[in-house]
Amino acid sequence: MGKNNNEISAVNRDIDQIIEQKPYIAAMLDAFRPIILEKNRLLREMADSRTTLAVDEVKYRGGIPLIRQCRLFFPEDPWQEMALAVTGAIRTGFPHLAGDMERLAEQLKGGLVDPYDYFRSSADPDENQIKAWAEKIPIDPGALRFFISIMARIILTKRAREAAAAIAPLPWDKGYCPVCGSFPMLAVTREKGQKWLQCSQCSHEWLFPRLRCPSCDHENPQETNYQYVDNEKNEQAFTCGKCRKYLITINRPANLEKSDLDITAISLAHLDLLLQNQGFTPMAVCAWNTF
Ligand SMILES: [Zn+2]
Ligand SMILES: [Zn+2]
Repeated sequence: MGKNNNEISAVNRDIDQIIEQKPYIAAMLDAFRPIILEKNRLLREMADSRTTLAVDEVKYRGGIPLIRQCRLFFPEDPWQEMALAVTGAIRTGFPHLAGDMERLAEQLKGGLVDPYDYFRSSADPDENQIKAWAEKIPIDPGALRFFISIMARIILTKRAREAAAAIAPLPWDKGYCPVCGSFPMLAVTREKGQKWLQCSQCSHEWLFPRLRCPSCDHENPQETNYQYVDNEKNEQAFTCGKCRKYLITINRPANLEKSDLDITAISLAHLDLLLQNQGFTPMAVCAWNTF
């Protein structure tokens, strides 16, 4: 427990440090801070699942992510505990959603809503189910969507960690995530110029050719661009001339590996704004890059 508390304090300090360097991002990082801290805490305290993920090697080699092969949301996941922690974190960081989150928390506590119901049947967001649920609670559908996306990110991050060893030896050359099928929120360039894509949902990372577009597979150095901002050479944006998507890319030497990439991604939201003003769209829509 003590170790977990220390690690959570370290995440808190990382956020403070970035705010010191980039005061313009303070409001956004402070809004997401409770969610980031709860996600870290829940993941550290969550027991490993008893279910083993069955990876079908042939399907995997054919580009089918795990989420289309087997169930990634389990009934034994700590749904109630997670849901109450997430509603609390949203309430603290986003005061305009406080009323919605309080109503949702009441329903959860009374056993009138089981968050697992939402994840039981489908891997994709189900708009009809969100609408029906939102009406029943009642809660704003946008607030419910936000809650569900955070819950999905936490469980999928846990599953990606559990699946990592099994899929590590298998080849994957797609621009979408081998675990959950989502597009990346960030790319990290490491030694020898290797580009590692970071999943926007489950935080899994995988190696990808530097000049190829993860979104449309187009590879043409003339139309592919790396833009620098304010001479900050460690923070760039990859842009694709064909599909007009962008991906924020950072240089990360091995000794700077430890920090939480959600914090990094949110702290670069000014680049998202810049690129979107140039007519590019993000490869993955995240809660912090929709303006
Ligand atoms: Zn993923
Ligand atoms: Zn493209």
